[in-house]
Amino acid sequence: MSRDPFISDLLTRLRRVVGESPVSLHEPRFAGQEWAYVKDCLDTGWVSSVGAYVDRFEADLAAYTGSRHAVATVNGTAALHICLALAGVRTGDEVLVPTLTFIATANAVHYCGAIPHFVDSEPVSLGVDAAKLDSYLQDLLLPSPDGPRNRQTGRVVRALMVMHVLGHPADLDALAEVCARHGLVLIEDAAEALGSFYKGGHIGRHGRLSALSFNGNKIITTGGGGAVLTQDAELARHAKHLTTTARVAHAWRFSHDEVGYNYRMPNINAALGCAQLEALPDMLADKRRLAGRYAEALATLAGASLFPEPAHARGNLWLNALILDPARASARDDILAASNTAGIMTRPLWTLMHRLSMHAGCPAMPLECAEDLDARLVNLPSSACLGATGHA
Ligand SMILES: *Cc1c(COP(=O)(O)O)cnc(C)c1O
Repeated sequence: MSRDPFISDLLTRLRRVVGESPVSLHEPRFAGQEWAYVKDCLDTGWVSSVGAYVDRFEADLAAYTGSRHAVATVNGTAALHICLALAGVRTGDEVLVPTLTFIATANAVHYCGAIPHFVDSEPVSLGVDAAKLDSYLQDLLLPSPDGPRNRQTGRVVRALMVMHVLGHPADLDALAEVCARHGLVLIEDAAEALGSFYKGGHIGRHGRLSALSFNGNKIITTGGGGAVLTQDAELARHAKHLTTTARVAHAWRFSHDEVGYNYRMPNINAALGCAQLEALPDMLADKRRLAGRYAEALATLAGASLFPEPAHARGNLWLNALILDPARASARDDILAASNTAGIMTRPLWTLMHRLSMHAGCPAMPLECAEDLDARLVNLPSSACLGATGHA
């Protein structure tokens, strides 16, 4: 136990929620039809790029999210790459990206030969700050026939990627309005946010294109996997084409009409996905129960609290986070050290994008809110099993 009474009090309260055994940050759960569907793939030999589970997973995803189209991919990063390519992002463009995000958001911009331009976040949802961005863009952008240009670099600013941090939906209405006003394409990095609802509608429909991830640490997993969501039939067709090596349909000929990618989700992963999606409502219920337990355990703690769900949201509560009062910010690393030593796996957010060496020369707006949030947030163990009835 820590000698700092604040930290030892915090650990006691966390133990009340997670129990006495060592606990990881996030574990998948396979309690439904996973074994049966994967066995079916093995029994029939349909494990790879052809098979019925991919079509079924795409249809199930579209139905669940209320999106017209879903195209499954090998991972969420590939989905982001396809979103940007289909949004018209080209070599030498700039794309607005929150500095408070996982590296994949910025990497996808680089894959297109474009330059990330980092923007600040707000403390209600942890998403991009629409009001601050709006006034920044008013000074920054000059209209041109090719699209709005950054008056300092001369480059076209093509798109805004927003990210729903830890599953909390960003303020999509306000962000869509900023994009419309300035002529930018809106793309949602919804990798963490399957099962999150913004003002009653599932996220992923404000962006022209949106990306989901089903990596092992996400709310549902296909081992590795992702998907592109869009409301546009032509974009969906093109997404499927690009992710399948741009092969032109033919009975036996191999012909391709543009540079495509081998980004299609294998059938065996989609089989896992179909079963996981069936279990999503149970996952969401357990997540909500767990968040309630954390909120209760931390309610009377002075100096920190559970990061609250934004009023505009009913999120998936994928990862719970502790937010330290500004006066306690200096304790963050001691909390991380003490909790991990005690067998309670906690993690900081990601290193901010503008602080990474490969982004040293990238344009950025003042980022003080993201820097402040990064200094005060600690992710807490959030596996659904911790919220199951009967736990702890
Ligand atoms: C997980 C994640 C991704 C990437 O997903 P992969 O499936 O691991 O490629 C992208 N963006 C964010 C914000 C993520 O959390």
